[in-house]
Amino acid sequence: MGVYLDYNASSPIDHRVLETMIIAYKEIYGNADSRTHEYGDYARQAVENAREQVALLLGVNKDEVFFTSGSTESNNIAIQGLRKYGVKEDKKHIIISSIEHKSTLNAAKSLEDFGFEIQQIIPDISGRVKERKVMSQIKEKTLLVSIMHVNNETGIIQPVKEIGEELTERNIFFHIDATQSCGKLVDEIRNLKYDMLSISAHKFGGPQGIGALILRKKKYKLPPVKPIMFGGQQEQEIRPGTIPVALCVGMGEACRIASEEYEEHDSKNRRIKSFLISMLNESGIPYGFNGDQEYCVSNTMNIYFDGVASEALMLASRKFCGISNGSACNSHSYSPSFVLEAMGVSNEIIDNSIRISWGKDVNVEDLKDNFFRLLEVAKMLKV
Ligand code: PMP
Repeated sequence: MGVYLDYNASSPIDHRVLETMIIAYKEIYGNADSRTHEYGDYARQAVENAREQVALLLGVNKDEVFFTSGSTESNNIAIQGLRKYGVKEDKKHIIISSIEHKSTLNAAKSLEDFGFEIQQIIPDISGRVKERKVMSQIKEKTLLVSIMHVNNETGIIQPVKEIGEELTERNIFFHIDATQSCGKLVDEIRNLKYDMLSISAHKFGGPQGIGALILRKKKYKLPPVKPIMFGGQQEQEIRPGTIPVALCVGMGEACRIASEEYEEHDSKNRRIKSFLISMLNESGIPYGFNGDQEYCVSNTMNIYFDGVASEALMLASRKFCGISNGSACNSHSYSPSFVLEAMGVSNEIIDNSIRISWGKDVNVEDLKDNFFRLLEVAKMLKV
C-alpha cells in the first residue's frame, strides 16, 4: 500500500461522515425549501442540524452560517459580494496578501474592472505576512482586508488574530480564508475577530463540493454582502440554488467529529511530523524547510532536498507516495510556486521543494515504508 500525503489538496472522507451521508441520500430526498409536505420538513431539519454543527465548531451563531459549494465560492461571495457596497460608499481599496489562494486573488482582481484598487502584501522569508505591513496600507477608502489563516502550500499560520483585533474598531471588513485551519486550529478560530470566514468540508474529513461562508453580525446586522449569482431565496439569497442536503449532513458530521476529536487529531499530526523529521535526519540527505517552523501547523511541511528536483522526485515516487509541490489548483501548468516566490525563496530551492501534508487517517506503518522509499529515491536522484 502506498501512502497519501496530500491532505491539503483534499482529505479522505471520514467513514462516519460517509455513513451519515448514505443514510441522508437514501432517506432524506425532499427539497429543504419545500413547505408543502413533511419530506421538505425532514430535509430542512437535516440542513438546520448540520448548520448548528458548523456553528458549534466555529463558535458562531447558526444564522451566520451560509452553505456554499466550498471555499472557492465562499471567497468569491465574500469579496465580490461587497462590490456594490464599496461602489456606493466610494470605498474601493482592498488589501489581500500575495500568497492567498487563487480564488481570493482572482476574485479580488475581478473587481479592478469596477475601479477597485487591489493591494497585495508580500510575506517575508518566514512565510508570514506581517500585521504591521497590512495595517500600514490602510487608507480612508479601504473597504476590505482579506488574509488567509493558514497557507495551503507552506502550512504557515498568518497573524489573522492580531489583524482582526486591530481592524475590529475600524469600519473595514475583515475576511479570513480558513480553509486549511478549519477543524485543526479549532480554539484559535473560535477566538478570532472577523466579519467573514470561508471553509471547505473536504479539507477536514468532509465531502467535496460543500463549504460555508460565515457572515458575522455586528449590531444585529450582517455585512452588506450581495449575491453574485441569482436564483431563489435559499441561504437568505446569498447563495441561491437547491441546498444539497446529504452534503450538508456530511459537512455537519465532519464538524461534529472535529469539535470532539480535534485535540486527538492534532496529537497524531504532531507525532507524524516528529516521525517524518527523525526519518529525514536519519537519512543523511541534506534538506531544509520553507517557512518559519515556529508558525507551522501540525499537518504540513514544505521541504526541499539539496540537489533533488521535485518534479523528478514526484515522478519517481508517484506510485507509492502522494505528495505535491504546491497547490493542486495550479498543478495543470508547470510554473514555480508563486507562494515560495513571494516569500523570496531562491529558484533553485523552489525547484527542489515538495509539500507533504497528512491527517488522522494516515497509517503509520504505510507511512514509514513509503517515506523510506521516497528518501531512497531522493538519494539516487541527488546531483
Ligand atoms: N483556499 C485555500 C487556502 C485552499 O487551500 C483551497 C483549496 N485548495 C481553497 C481556498 C479552495 O477550496 P475549494 O477548492 O474546496 O473550493
